[in-house]
Formats: sequence, C-alpha cells, structure tokens
Amino acid sequence: MAGDPVSNVEAAPEETQCAPTEASGIVEVLEARDVPLGGLRALQVRRTLPQRARTLIGAWCFADHYGPVEVPATGGMDVPPHPHTGLQTVSWLFSGEVEHRDSLGSHALIRPGEMNLMTGGRGIAHSEVSTPDTELLHGVQLWVALPEAHRDAERDFQHYVPEVVEVFGAEIRVFLGSLAGAASPVRTYTPLLGAQIDLEPNAAITLAVDPAFEHGLLVDAGDVRLGGTVVRPAELGYVAAGLDVLTLSNCSDEPARTILLGGPPFDEAIVMWWNFVARNHDDIVQAREEWEAGSERFGEVEGYPGRRLPAPPLPNAVIMPRRNPPVQEPVEAVAEPVVRRVDAERLYEMAIDGFRAGLTAYRDRGEQRVFYHTEVDKAHSRKGLAATLVEQALNDARATGKRIVPVCPYVARFIKKHPEFDDVTDQPTPQLLHWLDAELTAQ
Ligand code: MN
Repeated sequence: MAGDPVSNVEAAPEETQCAPTEASGIVEVLEARDVPLGGLRALQVRRTLPQRARTLIGAWCFADHYGPVEVPATGGMDVPPHPHTGLQTVSWLFSGEVEHRDSLGSHALIRPGEMNLMTGGRGIAHSEVSTPDTELLHGVQLWVALPEAHRDAERDFQHYVPEVVEVFGAEIRVFLGSLAGAASPVRTYTPLLGAQIDLEPNAAITLAVDPAFEHGLLVDAGDVRLGGTVVRPAELGYVAAGLDVLTLSNCSDEPARTILLGGPPFDEAIVMWWNFVARNHDDIVQAREEWEAGSERFGEVEGYPGRRLPAPPLPNAVIMPRRNPPVQEPVEAVAEPVVRRVDAERLYEMAIDGFRAGLTAYRDRGEQRVFYHTEVDKAHSRKGLAATLVEQALNDARATGKRIVPVCPYVARFIKKHPEFDDVTDQPTPQLLHWLDAELTAQ
C-alpha cells in the first residue's frame, strides 16, 4: 500500500504482479503441515485438511498432497493394508503409478488423470504401493466424509477418467461434480466438486460455480490468485459459500496446476482419528477394536506382500467431535471494518478480516494532528469505507485532545461535509505545509 507520501489519493490502486481482478470474497489461506505417511519407508505428505482452522470444505475432510518425489531415492509409497470407516477416498495422481488392493477384491492401478473413488462406509481395508516402474510420484489423496444417512454405506470402488476440457488459457479435468460444462457421472452422497485445473503462464479464467458451495483451491504449482489473494504451492485457499463465480489467475511465468474442491458446508460434527471418520469417541474405540481383532467388518486385502498396519494406541483423552468454525460470509456481506490508531507508524489503519485494507496517515505538530494522506486498497474500495476510516480517525483525534489539520484533500472534503468537526479543525497554513514537507522528507 506504499505510495507517494503526499499523493493524497483516496483510493490508490495496490500494485500487483497480476492483472487486478475483482475481489470475490475472503480467501483464507491454509498452510500445509508435513506428515510422514505410514509404512516402512515413510513418504512425507503435505496435509492441509483437517487443521485447527478448518475441518472440512463441503464434505471434503482430508487433503494430502505429496511429491514430486523420486521413487528410487525415497522408496515411494508403501502403505500396508489399513482400515477405513465413514468415508470415501479419492486418489488422484499427477505422475507415477500406484497399485491399489482392497477387501472388496478390487485390484487397480491408479494413474495420472484417472480417479479412483473407494467407499468405506461401515468398513473397508486397502493397501497402496507405488509400482516399480514409477520414477516420480506426485499427487493427492482426498477424503470425503459420508453424511449420517450413508455413513455405513457398502464397500465400493469406482474408476473414472474425466475428459480434458480446454478453455482459453486452461485445461480442466472434472472428476467429481460439474464445472466448465463438464459433469462427472460418479455418484456421491453429498453434492461435491473435485477438479484439476491447469493454467498456462499468466492465464486467468473465470468459472461459474454453485453459490451454495464453499471452495478450496489446493495449489500444486504456480502462484495462483484467487479473488484478491495469491495462493502458493502446497497452500489451500478457502472461500466461503455465496459466490457464483471464481476467478483464478496464474501470477507466475510457469504453468500452474491446482485442485479445486467444493461442496455445500457439511453441518455434522465428525470425529476423525487415524483412518476412521465417525461421530463420537465410542465409534472410534469400537472400529479400532474390530480392526485389531481381524473382524469381518473390514475384510481381508489379498495379495499384499506383508503385514497389515496395526492401529496406534488410543489417546488417553476422549476424542472430541470437530466441526468447522462458524460459517464466514463473503466480505461484501458481513466483514466489518475495524479502525485503530497505529502509533508506531503514525497512521490509522482500517482492517477487514484481519488485513489492512486502508489507512490515513498523520504527523503530530504540537496539539495539531496533520492528516496528509488517505488510501483504501482497491480490492476494498466499496462505498463508504474511506468515510468510515476518516470519521473514526477524526473522532479519535478529538478524543485525544488533538486539533485536526486536513492537508489530505479527501479529509478536507470529508470535513466540509461534516461541520461537526469544525470546532476542532485548523486549516493548513503555508508555514504548516512547509513544516510537513520537511517532516516527510526527513525520514
Ligand atoms: Mn487409505
């Protein structure tokens, strides 16, 4: 938000590396944490869901992102048979090949651009091993929480290869739900969107989306601007429901690759522990006991050359259900600006949702507070924000016993329209302007 300090612009456009786009709601950037995947040679994955700030996006309750890793060096992926309940798993690769075996009897190869959707409602077990031919392993594994009515769904395994939709500057593969005129035939238990979106260098696309959906954009490569925020590789940008378009811009000179997830907010609280999605602690205890006892609930995985994964010990505490923080409305609807004085910077800032969206800067000269520059971030230049900022700044100046000197033309116009500040306003004199000039040049 830096600018020429005496430029007195009401709404100075923020400098961006990208073509400016319309602000389209709050984007919350969720960072990944590194987690070793189970197995002998632990593959590191980057997990963006769940985390403290967010449990779910729609029914998407888990997002692991891994690679690219060189398999000869790391050993690749080798996850022995392990159980699941209450969820569907989506395996999606960018490169490499993974051999999947499950207790339904499925034996499949997971390949780039091909979705494998496994349903483990009441219980399923599976193993995942990268194939010996794989040199570079790179992809995502995502989980979908099943709603109460279907959380004991039968075991199922589906394979789907979406067509590639070409739009100007981008290629889209819709594996679940519908987007850009493509629709996946794969059945889900709640409305969902899952798509890979590849953007050419510096390309931007605007996509019509369901306003009932909240969305998450997981960036694999490139810096991608979503709404007003740049989401970087391994980050997940979250946008609340309420928007009917999303604009994605690749701010990098390299191709960008992203996964867009969406769905209506999932309003049930869930308990996630190890590989189980359940509703309460007792469900988890029971599922764990049944896995450890070799119960038919999970069945047998044929053909994996090794032992199955034992369940880790339960934590001492009761595992509490998790749900999302209260639903955030898009910025236009509710985010109220907060104005505060920042003494160290000699300005009043206006924050929207924790981010500085505007400022009015001053210098104190004895009992006078000289306002010389006001600006509001272009992304937030909606009606009335600058007025709110200046009004609260002037009220604070008055309350702290200061007299107001409006050098900034915006503040001057504001005072003309609000004579209630006349009694504490001094007009700038040539002498004061000279002092201000020296004051601002000196730093
Ligand atoms: Mn699994």
